Amino acid sequence: MSKITTGDFKESLKFSPEVREQNIRTLKTELFDVLVIGGGITGAGIVRDAVLRGFKTALIEKDDFAAGTSTKSSKLVHGGFRYLKQMAFGLVHEALVERKILMDIAPHIVHPTKCLLPIYENSAEPPFLIHMGMWMYDILAFTKNIGRHRMVSAKELAILEPELRQEGLKKGAEYYDCKEDDFRLVMATIQSAAQHGATIANYVKAKEVIRENGKIAGILAENRLTGESVPIKARVIANATGPWSDEIRSALFDEHDPHVRTTKGVHLIVKHSDLPITRAFMQFAIQDKRPIFAVPWKTLVLLGTTDTDYAGGLDRIYTERRDVDYLLESFNYYFPKANLNDDKILSAFAGLRPLLREEGKSASEVTREHAIFEAPENFFSIIGGKLTTHRVMAKDMVHRLSRRLERSFSVSAKNPHCITDKVPLYGGDIVNYETFRQEWVGRLVRENHFDHDIAEHFVESFGTRIPDVLKAVAATPDGRERIHPGLPHVWGELTYAVEHGMTLALDDFLIRRTHIFSLEKHQGLDVYPGIADWLQKRLGWSEDEKQKQINRLKQKVHFTQYFREEPSHENPIHRQS
Ligand SMILES: Cc1cc2nc3c(=O)[nH]c(=O)nc-3n(C[C@H](O)[C@H](O)[C@H](O)COP(=O)(O)OP(=O)(O)OC[C@H]3O[C@@H](n4cnc5c(N)ncnc54)[C@H](O)[C@@H]3O)c2cc1C
Repeated sequence: MSKITTGDFKESLKFSPEVREQNIRTLKTELFDVLVIGGGITGAGIVRDAVLRGFKTALIEKDDFAAGTSTKSSKLVHGGFRYLKQMAFGLVHEALVERKILMDIAPHIVHPTKCLLPIYENSAEPPFLIHMGMWMYDILAFTKNIGRHRMVSAKELAILEPELRQEGLKKGAEYYDCKEDDFRLVMATIQSAAQHGATIANYVKAKEVIRENGKIAGILAENRLTGESVPIKARVIANATGPWSDEIRSALFDEHDPHVRTTKGVHLIVKHSDLPITRAFMQFAIQDKRPIFAVPWKTLVLLGTTDTDYAGGLDRIYTERRDVDYLLESFNYYFPKANLNDDKILSAFAGLRPLLREEGKSASEVTREHAIFEAPENFFSIIGGKLTTHRVMAKDMVHRLSRRLERSFSVSAKNPHCITDKVPLYGGDIVNYETFRQEWVGRLVRENHFDHDIAEHFVESFGTRIPDVLKAVAATPDGRERIHPGLPHVWGELTYAVEHGMTLALDDFLIRRTHIFSLEKHQGLDVYPGIADWLQKRLGWSEDEKQKQINRLKQKVHFTQYFREEPSHENPIHRQS
């Protein structure tokens, strides 16, 4: 994809703690057209769309970018084959088109992958219906299809995927969707917005509404690193806080009519060597026939997910014993040779789907479409959707915000049309990904003498920003050395993560910037001391602060290992649906 740039475009983005401080000063002093609350994929999409249309735009995130649901996904950019059963043809078509657009604007992050839906004698749907569904899945992508499905015999499947249960297997449908790195997708979207002039800060929490002459004039936020108040003036405000949407509406406006239905989704993480499958599997849980996925991802396989109503605390989501049992039972049925058990689970993560509230439906049946609520005044909330469709959600939201800006403030967009499908994400200005990958991997191995896996990791994580990473590597003592012997991350990435990725906490780096937390059984607890010392020096932490950071990391490890203990009663509503 070729480059389209706007006025404030910065090729190499400095996105450091000092830039954040400067951004907070800007937040306090300037009047914004659009203020976005929430730095998950939805907020990231909105801030990027708004700034690309030429609005003066800001975004605040109370935690790290993508610390909420957006890093708890199944790592798929997909049309959602299962929604065909609900006759949601419009949604599936939209998602299939978005799949291709995301491949184009972020080719280093979103990659096509083969998927497989095995069909058994006792499958809920007969083979001909699944075959018809597959045709429809291809057709609904129109010209944006990324590969046609094919039906595969049981005999061939036994060779292609020997881990799969053979008993009762009739055939399988092989089709295509995409895999992604959800953190990288959010971060590249945020960085793209910042690159085009948006004012963005993480660890800034919206707390109160500012009123002038009785009208909403902005948000009083808090810098969570210093406790200082950050008053932000804005003409229109976009609430993109996902699962927190109702909570924030009630905190700001004392409004208590719920828009969101939060359902919990759990994934188990196992090593790929313990379940050596080559395709992403869609299967149906043996307990209730819900679709479940086994997705090979990096050196892992993600097994998910549950879908259960959730009414507990939004900032502390545990994986419980019953979540794990539900998934193990089904996946052991489908992959009997793997003999999956607690010992093979590295960790288990839980996220909350911010679904549109629809009464009388089970969690799985609730629509994955989105809706925008305009109230009160210039405060807009967006609910629902999927990671895959975030760009369309953002487009709809910015369209609504533009209309309000025009009508109430006579402020019009410099570029009236949405161009987010044409502008590459940060690091995504790549014409042909395969050529780019081969060239860069070759160069990094031959000229820079990196191991092959490190070179591949650089290409997938940073795309065309690799030169910045190489500078960071050169500027870091032992910058070329691996942080963990079994993983491709090198110490220089710490410099890059802080200077170009607004990394401010130990878990920002271990959980999100590198995924070491998920990729390795100790979840970073065996390598954190060196990283904590480095961050302490760079970020000026006191000993107390460093200890807090370490405790926070340990607590997050605890959340993902909680299922090994007795089940808790913290989540009062819990039913597989
Ligand atoms: C288990 C699971 C698997 C999924 N798998 C897929 C998949 O494979 N593909 C797909 O397309 N979709 C998938 N989804 C759906 C997708 O992940 C979500 O729709 C999407 O991530 C929601 O993003 P969001 O930005 O709306 O919410 P979030 O990512 O939760 O972002 C909201 C942000 O708002 C911030 N915030 C909250 N309150 C405040 C405040 N007061 N001030 C400032 N910031 C605040 C939070 O810290 C948070 O970062 C999955 C969802 C789940 C739960």
